[in-house]
Amino acid sequence: MARYLIVIFFLISVGHGCDLVSTSSSIHLSCPKGVPKNTVYYKSSPERMVIAFSKPLHLEKSFLNDKKLVLKNIKGKDYLVNYDLTKTNIKKDKKHLIFHNQKAVQSCQWHKKQHKPFTVVIDPGHGGHDPGITYSNLKEKDIALQFSKLLALELHKKSIPIVTKLTRNKDQFIPLADRPWFAIKHHADLFLSIHVDGSDNQTARGLSIFTLAERGATSKVALRLARKENTVFSRPTSNIIENFERDIGYYQSHKIGNSLIDRLKQSVSLHTNQLESANFIVLKSLKIPSCLIELGFISNEKDRQLFKKPLYQKFLAAEISSEIANYFEHNRFQYFYDCHLKPPRLSVTVKKGDTLSKISREHHLSVEQLMRMNLLTSSNLQIGQSVYIK
Ligand SMILES: [Zn+2]
Repeated sequence: MARYLIVIFFLISVGHGCDLVSTSSSIHLSCPKGVPKNTVYYKSSPERMVIAFSKPLHLEKSFLNDKKLVLKNIKGKDYLVNYDLTKTNIKKDKKHLIFHNQKAVQSCQWHKKQHKPFTVVIDPGHGGHDPGITYSNLKEKDIALQFSKLLALELHKKSIPIVTKLTRNKDQFIPLADRPWFAIKHHADLFLSIHVDGSDNQTARGLSIFTLAERGATSKVALRLARKENTVFSRPTSNIIENFERDIGYYQSHKIGNSLIDRLKQSVSLHTNQLESANFIVLKSLKIPSCLIELGFISNEKDRQLFKKPLYQKFLAAEISSEIANYFEHNRFQYFYDCHLKPPRLSVTVKKGDTLSKISREHHLSVEQLMRMNLLTSSNLQIGQSVYIK
């Protein structure tokens, strides 16, 4: 019976002044004609929060049964004094002013994000006082630089946006250990080191692709090459990359290396028809996918002819860049762990089957409190309606 009387009393009072509902976690002021302009400030001894209103609230004093909340009227102005300093977070909208103890929480989740543009760092091997392998006046450093520039041009032609950076654009010496750092600095998605092979066996020819070997080299060729390409080594690369990230780079390097081999073996003369791996210093610090390409053998007559053929070089650059674009296309969406602050939940949205009594039970409120907080004159709820619970 008492509950019905309260509801009837409440129905009469709505439409006049403001209403104030105090719960264990919030103080909710709701005004059907809008909350009067107000300023909030703090005072000490005793510690309290004061809300000064520009107009009287016409608050039913009988609703103020909380000792920690006092309404004062000084010279025609209303002041709400809140002694409960656990409820000092403020949420305001036109008809509501809420003081609550709910904090924002950090919410993290994995989500797919489109990744573009992609950055490829191309590393023309050797340079400056280090010519690499030579044959009469042909030098590895020159062939590598020329091809790297061609490869960059071809990559720019792809429909997928690709940015390229060369570790060197001219005949310049760059310490081996500085090259991977260049890639890290430019947030590279792929690192390609370009070299030229050479052998005492003049019949040995063809292009090879290498990835970093975690444990030993795959063949004697790889072992020999790792030694050859490691010779100009100025200082050790630091081992800052966590294993997990390096494993991803290792796996992706194999993926792109294998797809390059599969594509090139149909149109280009390869040294072996498989991806090789060796302990290249230049690939060692990288967690990103990385490959080392030996364009061919400077010691072989046919390969030397190819190095001098602009049409072939352009064709090779186009083939490699197409496969790289393919690889990026398939890895265009990557998963990122993203965190943001979730604002505290002060209201719920009415779903099918929700009733005032169901919502009040779920949030430890009475139906009457819910109706007063939300300035409701009937218990009918609409799906999608927002209902304050604080
Ligand atoms: Zn080299």
